[in-house]
Amino acid sequence: MTQLDMLWEYQLADTEADSMAHAIRQSPKRQKLLKLRDYIRDQQESLKSLEGEVAAMMDRVEVIKEAIALADDQLKALQKRVQEEPAANSREAAVFISEAEQLFNTLNDFDSEVRRVSKNASDRERRQRDIKLRAYKSKQEFDQLRVEYDQEYKEKSEILDKMRAAAEEKKKGIEPKYLERYNSIKQHCTPPMAKLINGQCGGCNMGFPSSVLAAIKAGKQVECETCGRLIIG
Ligand SMILES: [Zn+2]
Repeated sequence: MTQLDMLWEYQLADTEADSMAHAIRQSPKRQKLLKLRDYIRDQQESLKSLEGEVAAMMDRVEVIKEAIALADDQLKALQKRVQEEPAANSREAAVFISEAEQLFNTLNDFDSEVRRVSKNASDRERRQRDIKLRAYKSKQEFDQLRVEYDQEYKEKSEILDKMRAAAEEKKKGIEPKYLERYNSIKQHCTPPMAKLINGQCGGCNMGFPSSVLAAIKAGKQVECETCGRLIIG
């Protein structure tokens, strides 16, 4: 067996192991797990921002309550003033009435704001409950799938380990410079070796000039100028 033949044998085993590794990564269970993980993370972020919004609303309600108490006090003070020093004429009476109206309006505005904020807050609290429920269900689904995936991963990893060991075994006897070349081509082209088929590169189908064909037939290390693969005759 020539070095190239041995390298070809190694490639068969190496490619098989790579396919298995790829299948493990692409496992539908794994993809679903990743999706669920992202979904749960998104839900947690939504919850966090909703909590922040609700907290800000509660703060706002506290501020309004204080403002209402203040306006209430002002109204009481106005009533006291009107009782102690009743309006002497219609102009003074009009001033009292206008002041009282302003305070009433202020109180009404605060009242509707409190109502609006409270409604928004309870809407958000309802959304929080929905999200928590969905997140809980997703977490359960995630945990269940995780158990199944772990089992699948364990089984496939054992197979992969055997395949990698088999590939390692095929490396025996191959000179390091061939393996280095193989690995370096593999960085940009897989599989890194191609057979010569009808005078063409089996990887990209480009034809070789006769001088190159002669070199390949002579067992020299030739790489396809087009795809970069190492050609085996
Ligand atoms: Zn090629």
